[in-house]
Amino acid sequence: MKEKSEASSEFAKKKSILEQRQYLPIFAVRQQLLNIIRDNSIVIVVGETGSGKTTQLTQYLHEDGYTSYGMVGCTQPRRVAAMSVAKRVSEEIGSNLGEEVGYAIRFEDCTSEKTLIKYMTDGILLRESLRESDLDHYSAVIMDEAHERSLNTDVLFGLLREVVSRRTDLKLIVTSATMDSDKFASFFGNVPIFNIPGRTFPVDILFSKTPQEDYVEAAVKQALQIHLSGMMGDILIFMPGQEDIECKIIYYRLEDLENAPPLAVLPIYSQLPSDLQAKIFQKAPDGVRKCIVATNIAETSLTVDGIMFVVDAGYCKLKVFNPRIGMDALQVYPISQANANQRSGRAGRTGPGQCYRLYTQSAYKNEMLTTTIPEIQRTNLANVVLLLKSLGVQDLLLFHFMDPPPEDNMLNSMYQLWILGSLDNTGALTPTGRLMVEFPLDPALSKMLIVSCDMACSADILIIVSMLSVPAIFYRPKGREEESDQVREKFSVPESDHLTYLNVYMQWKNNNYSSIWCNEHFIHTKAMRKVREVRSQLKDIMVQQKMNLVSCGSDWDIIRKCICAAYFHQAAKLKHNYRGLKYPLCSLFGMGYTPDYIIYHELVMTTKEYMQCVTAVDGEWLAELGPMFYSVKQAGKSRQVSKNDLDHLNSPKRSNIGVQ
Ligand code: ADP
Ligand code: MG
Repeated sequence: MKEKSEASSEFAKKKSILEQRQYLPIFAVRQQLLNIIRDNSIVIVVGETGSGKTTQLTQYLHEDGYTSYGMVGCTQPRRVAAMSVAKRVSEEIGSNLGEEVGYAIRFEDCTSEKTLIKYMTDGILLRESLRESDLDHYSAVIMDEAHERSLNTDVLFGLLREVVSRRTDLKLIVTSATMDSDKFASFFGNVPIFNIPGRTFPVDILFSKTPQEDYVEAAVKQALQIHLSGMMGDILIFMPGQEDIECKIIYYRLEDLENAPPLAVLPIYSQLPSDLQAKIFQKAPDGVRKCIVATNIAETSLTVDGIMFVVDAGYCKLKVFNPRIGMDALQVYPISQANANQRSGRAGRTGPGQCYRLYTQSAYKNEMLTTTIPEIQRTNLANVVLLLKSLGVQDLLLFHFMDPPPEDNMLNSMYQLWILGSLDNTGALTPTGRLMVEFPLDPALSKMLIVSCDMACSADILIIVSMLSVPAIFYRPKGREEESDQVREKFSVPESDHLTYLNVYMQWKNNNYSSIWCNEHFIHTKAMRKVREVRSQLKDIMVQQKMNLVSCGSDWDIIRKCICAAYFHQAAKLKHNYRGLKYPLCSLFGMGYTPDYIIYHELVMTTKEYMQCVTAVDGEWLAELGPMFYSVKQAGKSRQVSKNDLDHLNSPKRSNIGVQ
């Protein structure tokens, strides 16, 4: 009896999934779409967010037989989207994730021999094209979310255009949520554009009368006002970054109110663990309203049904090359008009909706850009340059980009590769550069791994690099800040955050990779497991490349010197009135240890600049390892390291960076 009811509920679920599939706008044009794809090598598909492009196109191609001679690949600019959509499609198809339907993101391959439909980040496909320039494993590639114009997607455009001209059996489908698809069509040689007829409801747009000073505060207020108004429907709030997604504030405010109906507040951002991400798609129990607080990940990559209200703070985070410091920095910027319109559209999918914009109409009209500047025109291109060089593209300025990057950006990135020794004076790839391409890492990190072999500390550097590739190792729970800081002190290596990381990993290893140990030390177990996984994957590449793995034991000066060899271009001379670095790591400070020079892993821009993950270095190392940057001057008895005059090298003025 029990079996029967389980079977029938399973049937009910399947039926409803099928019904859901058939209700999507794309279903009405399924056959037309397949026909146009059959008749053309490249097709641009345009459809509103939620019309079914990402989840259905792959399945249609599979049902139409394309998977009989290769995989159907679908690229996503965002990791979360690749994972979440693959999961959904595996459910729709009725197989386990990783079998017929799988996904691959950096350091995580959830596919198998059986995989027919593969979702992946655009970065993964780009790297696959290194190994297999004609992408022979694929019968069709869908480049999804092309309107996002991510750096990797833009590079893939140029590469795939060539691949399709060589391989007549390969289908390329480029999808976009916006209507300005003519540009894509003409880039690929006047290929057809297929529009999926939308099914959208009107959305009332309400602007702020005056500019908002505190968008978090304003958003919380607005959401609660909607919640208490008695109108039905779920709420979606757009915030710029993870740190603004403080769902607790909403709960606290709610508690203060008498007789307020319950509300399910759910966050969604890229670093959120995937089991929590899945929650946004589930129905809240018994008519409880959902209030989803999202970064711009919910703008087009993920569609949640049932949203009637959108609250738009008007900002997003963008990675932008900052010429003053010579590297990319993630900063909060106002969104573009195109972003704003996508966001408001989220309210009109299941019925008429409302969008509350927390900015004025005049800011929208006069201050916002029409569209966001493509990533390729605003970020560091070192990795792209490395990749294209290794694909044999000699003159990068002649590569077929849809929107070419500014020449300055390109030259700056080449300069950076030159100082790391990956390009020679003629701009050709050196053996070091060739080896660097093998690693799915930022150039400086792969350089650090390569140098560590010569310096006989590769096993240690491998751990440090793995730790740096995983976000947020430590946590600091509210109310237990002091306790967690004290525990962290135990790992702290005064002269180096990098060594502190090494220390954490070694102690975890000595405790048999225990999760209890992690909990006791306010360390994320999941993050540490990820580190271990990353380490093992990087190790495989090192073994493959015949790089020897040796530990320097306790001679940690060698490790610091090795870090210096790859990061000398990110050095700072300390002023002695510093107050310390931003959480999470600050081992150098407050311990009575005052080095003269440090190198830093990255800079974080908030209202001030913070260096994150720093290591004290010897001034003479800087001169020895970065002779194009520094020289040693003899001044009386004391030796001083000074900056060479770099202006003629078009170098950013790094000396401006002080520690706040
Ligand atoms: P598009 O790519 O055109 O924006 P999608 O194919 O992503 O559209 O979405 C189609 C439908 O699939 C949406 O209605 C959405 O609710 C549903 N969907 C997508 N991903 C998931 C998921 N992870 N869980 C549940 N439903 C999902
Ligand atoms: Mg999509």
